[in-house]
Amino acid sequence: MTEYYFINGDYVEAEKAVIPVRTHAFLYGTSVFEGIRAYWNDDEKQLYAFRVQEHFARMEKSGHIMYMKSPYTVEEHCEIVKKLLKKNNYKEDAYLRPTLYKMAQRVGPGLQDNPDGYLLLVNKMGPYIDVPGGLKVCVSSWRRNSDNAIPPRAKVAGGYANAALIKADAHYAGFDDAIVLDECGAVTEGSAMNLFLVQDGKLVTTTKTDDILVGVTRNTVIEIARDIGIEVEERPVSRTELYISDEAFYTGTGAQILPIASIDHRNVGTGGVGKVSAELQRVYNDVVKGKVPKYKKWCMPIY
Ligand code: PMP
Repeated sequence: MTEYYFINGDYVEAEKAVIPVRTHAFLYGTSVFEGIRAYWNDDEKQLYAFRVQEHFARMEKSGHIMYMKSPYTVEEHCEIVKKLLKKNNYKEDAYLRPTLYKMAQRVGPGLQDNPDGYLLLVNKMGPYIDVPGGLKVCVSSWRRNSDNAIPPRAKVAGGYANAALIKADAHYAGFDDAIVLDECGAVTEGSAMNLFLVQDGKLVTTTKTDDILVGVTRNTVIEIARDIGIEVEERPVSRTELYISDEAFYTGTGAQILPIASIDHRNVGTGGVGKVSAELQRVYNDVVKGKVPKYKKWCMPIY
């Protein structure tokens, strides 16, 4: 079946959504983007896009840092998402990748006099691949790019060269992923996920000023956890805390809630999926599908 994307004002067949090879964003990584999931609720026969407004609000901020302005308001973006998913007639989980990009066709890195383009790609997500027993991760020898270099707070495509190195080297060393430190050796997050630890029944995660992308899933988990009576501490985290926590997990739109079993060859807790992680996973999976009335406000119906 033909799939459609949205590019610079038009809904076009996927293979016709192309950009010229001299496009600034391609040559210099000057685009900001989001990853959004839509979940199929089979009981309701409804597709729900999760926290779309929050994602587009973050894209607006990323763009502001990078001298980019979206041609659309957050509300208009939501309408485009609805229209595109409907046009593709998806009746299963899907993934959306909006990108705001610098479209000048010239050599030279400047952002000035450089118009903004916008494209929205979508694909079916397929079944979620679980890692039973949790991930085996390491602390990366690469450091996260700092706020004064390529700000991780802005989801800038060029900054993902850092995540690419981290992910590739973790893979070649036999790990599933990695945890990344900042230039001073403090914990930041995963390659492209946020990180939570469980210590004495409490959640611990790094702060908004610790060179992380402030994740939508992170914020979701913090809110859900507090609502079900789990205390959450946002504070700087040092490396050795990774080895002595009771549980650890990643959060992210793609990752959802992904338990970590070991870090640098040391078991986290008992080395499996911890109780708190499993409970949060269970609740999260219902929330994103619009099955929990209290959080239905986060789920935008498509049909
Ligand atoms: N950190 C980084 C570097 C990421 O790329 C992502 C994925 N977008 C996250 C954290 C998690 O963010 P979110 O929960 O908004 O997907």
